[in-house]
Formats: sequence, structure tokens, C-alpha cells
Amino acid sequence: MPEASLANEPLTRLSGVGPSLAQKLERIGLASLQDLLFHLPARYEDRTRVTTIGEVRLGQNVVLEGRVISTDVTFGRRRSLQCVIKDETGLIALRFFHFSKAQQNNLTDGSLIRCYGEVRRGKSGYELYHPEYNHVQPGEHLDETLTPIYPATEGVTQARIRKLVEQALSLMEGGALLDELLPRDVRSGLSELQSAIATVHRPPPYTDLELMLEGRHPAQQRLAFEELMAHFLSMRLVREQIRQFDAPRFGPAGKLCDELEQCFGFAMTGAQRRVVGEIQRNVTEDRPMLRLLQGDVGSGKTAVAAMAAAHALENQTQTAIMAPTEILAEQHFINFSTWFARLGVTVAWLSGKVKGKARTEQLGNIASGAAGIVIGTHALFQADVTFRNLGLVIIDEQHRFGVEQRLALREKGRQDEAGRATYPHQLVMTATPIPRTLTMSMYADMDVSVIDELPPGRTPVTTSVIPDTRRGDVVARVRDACLSGVQAYWVCTLIDESEQLQAQAAEGTAAALTEALPDVKVGLIHGRQTPPEKQQVMDQFKAGSLQLLVATTVIEVGVDVQNASLMIIENPERLGLAQLHQLRGRVGRGQTASHCLLMYHPPLGEVSKERLNVIRQSADGFVIAEQDLRIRGPGELLGARQAGSVNFRVADIVRDRELLPDVRTTSLELLRTQRALATALVRRWLARPTDYGQA
Ligand code: ADP
Ligand code: MG
Repeated sequence: MPEASLANEPLTRLSGVGPSLAQKLERIGLASLQDLLFHLPARYEDRTRVTTIGEVRLGQNVVLEGRVISTDVTFGRRRSLQCVIKDETGLIALRFFHFSKAQQNNLTDGSLIRCYGEVRRGKSGYELYHPEYNHVQPGEHLDETLTPIYPATEGVTQARIRKLVEQALSLMEGGALLDELLPRDVRSGLSELQSAIATVHRPPPYTDLELMLEGRHPAQQRLAFEELMAHFLSMRLVREQIRQFDAPRFGPAGKLCDELEQCFGFAMTGAQRRVVGEIQRNVTEDRPMLRLLQGDVGSGKTAVAAMAAAHALENQTQTAIMAPTEILAEQHFINFSTWFARLGVTVAWLSGKVKGKARTEQLGNIASGAAGIVIGTHALFQADVTFRNLGLVIIDEQHRFGVEQRLALREKGRQDEAGRATYPHQLVMTATPIPRTLTMSMYADMDVSVIDELPPGRTPVTTSVIPDTRRGDVVARVRDACLSGVQAYWVCTLIDESEQLQAQAAEGTAAALTEALPDVKVGLIHGRQTPPEKQQVMDQFKAGSLQLLVATTVIEVGVDVQNASLMIIENPERLGLAQLHQLRGRVGRGQTASHCLLMYHPPLGEVSKERLNVIRQSADGFVIAEQDLRIRGPGELLGARQAGSVNFRVADIVRDRELLPDVRTTSLELLRTQRALATALVRRWLARPTDYGQA
């Protein structure tokens, strides 16, 4: 008789698991035997063959075997134990910075050892630092298969996890069930679940190692399919849940919307109109809208957002607009204030830096409803902010916020009447171009609108790639441009460094340029300045009293100065393509021909070269995103994955993107026909599936 499902079997069934270990495992989300079996290796190590010392390459992980020819303590900058081993092809040193006397004595000359580690460049040439090693007999057998490495778990060693998984696998192979949740017809093209699970934990000998290391083995693909389905389904379930709530139902768009359009000073593009229509269709229903608006930099998302806000105002509800940075929020505040001032609408401003009396006043206006539109940073969802009647939430640059922040802002608009919750409509905007198939999977909880047309009258930006050895020429070019009346940005990049270091780098550059260009007025903007300081600099730049603006990547999003038509980006090779594209979008907004100079630091690797070429050749964010995918390939990040910010166990949304269309159709089908299986699938893969659902 088959045993009960492993989903219901506690880990304490395994020998060696007492209450204290069970508790530790529970903390990392492992409660049942099924959980343990779905605790998949994060990666593998290949210890199946011995590499000769003569063939090692830098950065490789290798098994080496050789006889010890010397073991000495060496004194350099750090004391270390150096053990040199030798095989018939050469010598290499193993180096230990932490070592015991016993270890030292144990590595006797002439003994044969086998070790595993990464090849690095050390004091004596190539070396292995802190390799795992043991003494072996000649011809001693090697691992037959890849060694799984599990995600690090505090207080539980790799060896421990491996032993527990081994036991669980035996139970499974002895007849205990791991439930198949995928419909039969979907499974026909895929590996069986149980064998897939066994394979990934314990790759059989003769497994295609290459495939396995890349995550493309059929067993992994089978699990990836299931995992992608689980994520897709969880988002759909959230969506269903949200759609059960009420929302303020707006009437058809009216006079205020018309009047606002007159205030823009331009005619909306066809794409903007279409998207405005899509939004209007949602908000005239009594279910909360959840819509993603994708549009390349400069495509005019702000005007669309303003139209939605006008619609909310017509229906006596407030709109909250949240942006990820002060600068961007301020920019929105300026735009909205200008547009809406003529319509007699009060726009409130709130950021973490609005304090004291000013803050009290703004909070008062928000609570009383006197402010029809509220613009700010994440300060908007702090506890003391209460809205009179929030009908619409707009979030700009969605990928900079976590899901929680988005949901927290939505909660602000929750109203309970007669036991029913009413939530505001939500519009989230992003300029991160994401290929369409990815969008459909990553934002399965939302409807998607795309602005696929730029406003007319833009002159394309020409982009050149130059080495920083020609810095002098570049500075001369900036000088000529500025003296002829053009304004320019000089962007300093320091990626993954603190805001403080970035500011320092920009300050240094600004000082150097001020000295080199005595007849050019140079300004500086960075993230360490106060909002009034930043505002002052931006105002001066806008007004033309500054000609060259040295900036950190804080200007990446939103900043809009039409007369700026030259941009220098230092070390563009440090940035992602999406970010470069965003930065470059700051120029080319007016009528004059614009230029962008990507000043890299040589030498440039092949991949970097190709990437910068993509930017040079294309101005279309979606094309750039596709190329980014192609060049970087699997295992690398692109804007899309940052946007998704999902940690998958086995799937890789970039590598496995061909699976996505099937994942989508299968998931929708499963939801319709076998809902219980769908929820079981979500539960199996997402430790806390209610995270999204409850909020
Ligand atoms: P993004 O989509 O990057 O947020 P913005 O909303 O900041 O773009 O718009 C970029 C610039 O284009 C702004 O100066 C805006 O006023 C202008 N703009 C927007 N829509 C149009 C249009 N239909 N015609 C002309 N200019 C427009
Ligand atoms: Mg914008």
C-alpha cells in the first residue's frame, strides 16, 4: 500500500531529527518531508575528475592530486601555511591562512593528497586558498557525480542537509508519495516529478554535467516549469483576491479631464490616448484597477498619470503619487502644480524632509481632503499620513519599490463600510523596458499598458564610445558646446558604492572641470545634497545660468531639461544597459541634435564592447532589453530581473524564458479546472504564499 503524501509527513520522521533540529529547519521554511525534498541545491560542484596541475586555469574549481614536496609557514603580509604539491605536470601551492599545528604536521613530505578548491593568483603563482583536502591512496575512487551545494542554512551543515535529503529520498523511493500536481497532458513532455527530484539532489553518474551545471537538464527544467507556474499562480490568486474588493467607481471622464489636456501645451500622442482610455475603462468599474504602465523614457507617462488624477478628482477622490527619489518626486510636484494650478486644484508635497510646521500643514490638507493630489516619496505611507478619501494610487518607477511598499500605500486608501473593504485604484509606471513575454509572467497580477510611441519632434541622440585616454578631447568638446549655448551633463558613475563615495567622486570631477573650463559655469548635483540644494541647482540649470551639470546617477530618472543636448557618461561599462538607456534619455528632449559620449576605461572586454555597441546603435528601450538578454545570457541580471525581484530555487526567468508562454496557458487552465491543485502548487513552492495574498 502506498504511504501517505510526503507533504503531510513531519521532518521528525527522519532519524536524527529531534525537536531542536526540527525547529532550526522550520525557521528556514522546512516543516514537511516534501519541503525538504523541494529544498533544492543552489549549485553543484564537479569533483568527478582530477585535473592535472599543468592544465589549471585561473578561476576554475578543480580537484588536484599530488605528493607533498614541502610544507612551510611563510611570513608576508599575513602569516600562512604553504604546502606545495607536485604531480607529473607541475607544482602548485595550497595556502592556509588559518591552520593548526596538527594540520602542519599532517601534511608530511611525500604523502599523496587530493584537494578541491578554486584556482587563484597567489604569492607563488597559481594557488588554492583553503582547499578541502584529504589523504588518499593511489587510484582511490573519485566522486561519481556532481556534489550538490545547498543554500546556506544557519546552524545546519551541508553534510547534515545532504544526509537528511538522502533519507527523504529513500522514503520516496520506498513508496511514499510526492504528489504530482501538474495535469497529465502537461506532464507528458516533461520528466516525472519523483525522478526529477531524485536527479537534482543526487545526479546519477553519467549525467550530462554541462547541462546540469547550466540548469538545463530535463530534471531541472521539469522543476523550473513547476516553479514558474507556482509564481504565476500566486500572482493570479492575489489578483483574484483584489478583484473581490470594492473600489470607488468613477463616472465617465468629464470636464476637468478636458481642461487639463488644454493645460499640457501639447497634443497627446495616439499611444497616450489609448492608455488613458485603458485606464478609464478600469476605473469606471467597481473593482480596484491594478495596471502597469510601461513606457520608454520620455514617452510621456506623466501626462497619462495626470489625466488619471483629474479623473479621480472629478469623482471627489484624492490621488497619491509616489516616486522613489526626492528629485523625481519634486519633478512630478512641479509638473502637477503647474498643470493643476490653473484648474484650482491644491497639490500637496510630502517627503521625509518636510518637517515641523510645514509637515503639520501638509498632513492637515491631506486629511481634510483640501489637497486633491498628494505627491511624495515613500514618506507617503508613514503612519501619521491619513487621507480623506484616496481613490487612486500612482507609483512611478515601480521596480524601485518592494511589493510591501506598494501594498502599504494601498492600505492607506482602505475604507470599510458595512463589512466590505474598498480599495483605491492603482497605476504603477515603469520605464524599465522588459520583453513582453517576461512582463506577462512577472506581472501576472496586473493588466499591462504600453506607450509604444514617443512624442513628435524629438531628434535622435547620436552616441559615441570613446576611451578615457581621450579625456582632453572630450573636455574640449564640452567647452565648445557650452560656449555655443548648449547645456551638458557630465555623469560620474560609481556603482555599488555608498552615496557618500559617489558624492565625493562627483565633487572631485566638478572641481577638476571647473578648473579646466574657466569660462563655463559648472554645477554639481548628487544624492547627499538637501532637497532645497538640489532644487536650486536644478533651477539654475533649467534657467540656463549653469551650463555644465556634473551629476551622479541621481539624474537617472525623470529629470527634464530640454536645452541639454550633450551628455558625457564616465565608465559606462559599470552600468547596466537599462540604466545607461535611462541616463541617455535625459538628452534629446528638445529640437537640437543631441550627443552622448560614453567614455570608458580601457581595456574593454568583449562583452562590454558588445554591450556599449548596443547602446550606440539603438535608441529603443525594448530592443536594448532584448539585446541585453542575448548578450548577457542566463545567470546574469538585467533590468527585468531586478524588476521581478523574485528569488527562484531552480527557475531562471531569463534562461527559461521559452517556457513562459506555456507556463501561462497551463496555469490559467489549471486555475479554471483544478483549483485545488493550483493552490497546492503555490503552497509547495512558496514558503509563505499568503505574503501577497493577505495584504
Ligand atoms: P516619462 O515617460 O519618461 O516619464 P515624461 O512624462 O517626463 O516622460 O515626458 C517627457 C517629456 O515629454 C516632458 O517634457 C513632457 O512634457 C513631454 N511630453 C509628454 N507628452 C508629450 C506629447 N504628447 N507631445 C509633446 N511632448 C510631450
Ligand atoms: Mg517619468
